[in-house]
Amino acid sequence: MKIICIGRNYSEHAKELNNPVPTEPVFFMKPDTALIKDNAPFFYPEFSKDIHHEIELVLRISKAGKHILPEFASKYYDAVALGIDFTARDIQDKCKEKGLPWEKAKAFDGSAPVGKFIPKTEIADLNKMEFHLEINGETRQSGSSADLIFSFDKVISYVSEFITLKTGDLIFTGTPAGVSAVKIGDRLKGFLGKECLIDFVVK
Ligand code: MG
Repeated sequence: MKIICIGRNYSEHAKELNNPVPTEPVFFMKPDTALIKDNAPFFYPEFSKDIHHEIELVLRISKAGKHILPEFASKYYDAVALGIDFTARDIQDKCKEKGLPWEKAKAFDGSAPVGKFIPKTEIADLNKMEFHLEINGETRQSGSSADLIFSFDKVISYVSEFITLKTGDLIFTGTPAGVSAVKIGDRLKGFLGKECLIDFVVK
């Protein structure tokens, strides 16, 4: 499986990092070694001093597809979860300065914790999913799928122009504003509405 991540998909987040609001989706990938499941801890890597949390809605791809039209895209995912797109912001800033790829900052081991999946059929309105991230009980990020620049359907369609999507692939759909650093000992909890779907500690 592969993990595809959309960048800059909420305008307030693009602005907080001084990035332009994009006119077409930005995406990058993480390998399967980035995935953390079952609320296992995240181990703070030694190569960074500025690991940021980015909470995101995550789509689970349920059938293979290429050149998927937006009007059919909703047939290609069957469940939604919350994930954290951990980012070594210090390293990413250096990569950006030099125009280099982001893998060292984004694709490292354990950089993609993903929580419990909710079947799409159990979600009342996919276009109005409210979610938030609490760290040590304090709300640090909150967002809604209503504020996505590029909808789930647009993202699936766009990515599939370049890369064949396969069953089990995950798409991180972008983070709302409020990204900031985590530290060892922090406890992160992600909520979809009132339901906690992911809950783990930084070690
Ligand atoms: Mg992200």
